[in-house]
Amino acid sequence: MRKFLIAGNWKMNAGPVEAKNLAGEINSWAKDNSFKSEVVICPPYVSIPFVAKEFRSTECKVGAQNVHNQDNGAYTGEISTSMLKELECEFVIVGHSERREYFEESDELISKKTLKSLTDGLKPIVCVGEKLDERKSNSHKKVVKYQVEAALNGVSAKQAENLVIAYEPVWAIGTGETATPEQAQEMHHFIRSLLEEKWNKGVSDSVRILYGGSMKPGNAKELLSQPDVDGGLIGGASLDSGSFTEIISISESISK
Ligand code: PEP
Repeated sequence: MRKFLIAGNWKMNAGPVEAKNLAGEINSWAKDNSFKSEVVICPPYVSIPFVAKEFRSTECKVGAQNVHNQDNGAYTGEISTSMLKELECEFVIVGHSERREYFEESDELISKKTLKSLTDGLKPIVCVGEKLDERKSNSHKKVVKYQVEAALNGVSAKQAENLVIAYEPVWAIGTGETATPEQAQEMHHFIRSLLEEKWNKGVSDSVRILYGGSMKPGNAKELLSQPDVDGGLIGGASLDSGSFTEIISISESISK
């Protein structure tokens, strides 16, 4: 049985003051409601301590949006796994399409970050997904296969216990466009088959595969009801505590 993971990616939004307020709203909902889904918010680095502090009184967790693949040293502007752990982060987003596009992160670098996170006890949420032209030319599966295999290069079956994958079709991120539940299910099932080929059925059954791309209260039920969709990586809608907590409630209403 895979537990739903509902993850918020605040991107470059919510500095410390706003983050504290927003996390406070999510936290007061969490105090008043029981939920089995795992809930994590990934704020900008500077806001992590404020969100972590709010979340100490509930089961909500904090994560980061990126990490470097070295322990420490002359890497100006970068943040290490040990620094994130010191800030109580349990998860870290790796290889988000915005990092691939605007910061030219390669599959090779994403692989290093994934391995470093797993080795150092962080749970990476590894993002994969095709662009619109790749979907239109019917090469979406080929692209995602390459990204998954590259990112997981060197990851052992044991380490996969802490692995999360997020399928985020680039054409659906921040656009209001969503993959249909059938498109999401097809790709999630395909990704799971790649995990089975790499390791075995036991491992592939246990890895959570999140959907990301304009998930909101209005479409969450259909998406989360798909057998291979184990949660959501939520951008825009996670900046509104009402929408985000509604998605958590929706996940609670679905039994798989
Ligand atoms: C994301 O940032 O990972 C994302 C899915 O964003 P949005 O929900 O806004 O499309």
